[in-house]
Amino acid sequence: MKQRYIKEYVISLVAHEVGHTLGLRHNFKASSINTVAELHDSNTTRRKGLSGSVMDYQPVNLSPKAMPQGEFYHTELGPYDYWVIEYAYKPFEKKEYSSEEEMLLAIASKNTRPELRYGTDEDCFGNSVSGVDPLCNLFDYGSNPIEYYAERINMAKEIFASLPEKAIKKGENFNRVRVMFSRALGQYNQGATIVAKYIGGLYTHRNHAGDNNQTVPFTPVPPQEQRTALEFLIKNYLVTDALTFSPVLLNNLGINRLSDGEDSRRDRLDFGIHDAIRNVTTSPLYRIYNPTVLARVRDNEMKTVTGTQPFTQQELFESVRNAVWEELMKNIEPSSYKRDVQRTYADIITAMLETKSMVNRDAIALARLDCSTLRDILKKNSTNKKLSGISKAHYEDMLAQFTSALDTKKDKEKQND
Ligand SMILES: [Zn+2]
Repeated sequence: MKQRYIKEYVISLVAHEVGHTLGLRHNFKASSINTVAELHDSNTTRRKGLSGSVMDYQPVNLSPKAMPQGEFYHTELGPYDYWVIEYAYKPFEKKEYSSEEEMLLAIASKNTRPELRYGTDEDCFGNSVSGVDPLCNLFDYGSNPIEYYAERINMAKEIFASLPEKAIKKGENFNRVRVMFSRALGQYNQGATIVAKYIGGLYTHRNHAGDNNQTVPFTPVPPQEQRTALEFLIKNYLVTDALTFSPVLLNNLGINRLSDGEDSRRDRLDFGIHDAIRNVTTSPLYRIYNPTVLARVRDNEMKTVTGTQPFTQQELFESVRNAVWEELMKNIEPSSYKRDVQRTYADIITAMLETKSMVNRDAIALARLDCSTLRDILKKNSTNKKLSGISKAHYEDMLAQFTSALDTKKDKEKQND
């Protein structure tokens, strides 16, 4: 299995780089030609390939425990690769076509076939918020990235549950536990980045006017798909203790002490669990409340087909506020991980009131409503005697932050008067 894994990886890497030497660019949409179920069916993937092209950035195709393991990596050329090489390299012969241009147009006319889908660096922008299409990503697989990352997160949970025993054998370094733990946690980061693209997302099509089965350049992601993505982010990142680990596991995250390695430059030997969890759980907040994403959510309201209830900024702000402040609403103690999520939320929302030029005005209005709603609830809650000392201190801190953000606005208005 190990040999097969390494061999498949080397084949896929070499094929990708040879593709570049032949003039091919990246195709980050190619890995969406199969459904997630088809990826685990090696009969399908041997016939169609794991992806439409070797020019995508494809992660390892790992099957969940109960399912058969198909190919680990993409080892065959995909339909897109054959097509684009034909366009670039097919010698012109007069028998078939009257001119070379006619031949090239005939090859190019297949461009709207689903297996030839294409999106490159200028579509994807390295998974940044400038990329709008949830199917055009680095390091994903399948036609439904939400389903794909739900599977990956379940696998990460299986890994967490198997640690530390699974990572180390007698005589081995405990650093292996840290490596496996960090890799599994990394799946959460990747999932947040990619699934958040559904929110304010648009499916893109690069065909020209008059092509066979021509489509419009942009189709907003249907509101229901945006809601499903938001539910995924809330459930896996934002609710109470979406991620939590036993002290036994945390104390097993050993470290290498090699003088020439990266580990020797660390400022602490133990694993900074709060920092690591905060990076993961707050990642959706930075994506959702990015000014470019919010502008697209607002614009998509005008682009959604009539008869469908659009996914609105108001719905987004309310859903996130309710998830992040669930404990406050239900009168239960927030954990220390959750306090970090609430602080990041407060930083992002209050910053919107102070950097008006960055975010659309509707978003500022909604951020102000969030601040005043939470300020009022926190004020009422300040006499709650059941809360622990740290929860009281945290809520008072948050109350001060929301109150101050609302007051800053008043101060500025006074200055302008
Ligand atoms: Zn490349």
